[in-house]
Amino acid sequence: MAILPIYPYDAQVLREETRDLESPSQDLTQLIVDMFETMHLANGIGLAANQVGKGDSLFVVDLSGMEEYPEAKPLVFINPLITDFAGDDISFEEGCLSVPDVREDIIRPEKLLISYRDANFELQEMEADGLLARVIQHEYDHLEGIFFTDYLKGLRKRLLMPVLKKIKRGESAAEYQMAADAAIVE
Ligand code: ZN
Repeated sequence: MAILPIYPYDAQVLREETRDLESPSQDLTQLIVDMFETMHLANGIGLAANQVGKGDSLFVVDLSGMEEYPEAKPLVFINPLITDFAGDDISFEEGCLSVPDVREDIIRPEKLLISYRDANFELQEMEADGLLARVIQHEYDHLEGIFFTDYLKGLRKRLLMPVLKKIKRGESAAEYQMAADAAIVE
């Protein structure tokens, strides 16, 4: 097992669309194990593969560390495809391990339907709502090169720019290891 460095805001790999995985492999299994370990150490509840520098279409979610979700199971989403949204648009505060110390209210649909392959590479379909639907949408965006901060406009965005620039320069105060040599989009 290994702890992987987390790539910061505007790292090249986080601005590119990810590639679908074609088959299971030992490398993939190891990556999944490492991603869970990295995420847990950083107290995250979701992590996309490109946040650890891998351009694969894959993210992991684990809500079980949260008081409200003691029954939650760790989830692996490989080649995910959100096929439907439902419910109201909800405002909810989000954060991101690639954007340390930034929390912003973001509006997203309440519910979704997603198809994906699980850790055994078997096709699955899931309806999600609440926090799970929120985390899934945030991580799914990562696989398409989108950060939650991209949704901010006007003054909120302007106020955040200096903070984002600092993170790009590697000057964030994250308590976990960030990739120091990541290629950054300018
Ligand atoms: Zn994120």
